[in-house]
Amino acid sequence: MTYVVTDACIKCKYMDCVEVCPVDCFYEGENMLVINPSECIDCGVCEPECPAEAILPDTEKDVETWLELNATFSAQWPNVTRKADQTPADADAHKGEAGKYDKYFSAEPGAGD
Ligand code: SF4
Ligand code: SF4
Repeated sequence: MTYVVTDACIKCKYMDCVEVCPVDCFYEGENMLVINPSECIDCGVCEPECPAEAILPDTEKDVETWLELNATFSAQWPNVTRKADQTPADADAHKGEAGKYDKYFSAEPGAGD
């Protein structure tokens, strides 16, 4: 089992999640994060920290697509272990917005740390 990041994360970058992960298994894309499913120890600590409710256990319904995305891009994007210095000014405006994957997903890597 693992936890996965869904497209609710896109454009957040609060990164409250990465601060609490005991095994540093978050990876950073240009505008969202993913979890490496083979590194996640399923502790669940990150889930309540996420203000966008973007983190779900893989036992939830309909997370297969996100599990695949997390596995694919955690192998391509850099590791991130510290909260970003700056949250985008429009982060709150995109919180809870529907269909963010189709509108904004970027396969480009983030900066990592
Ligand atoms: S706190 Fe949630 S929405 Fe923000 S970067 Fe982490 S997983 Fe994404
Ligand atoms: S469930 Fe635990 S190990 Fe997995 S990503 Fe969240 S904090 Fe890290």
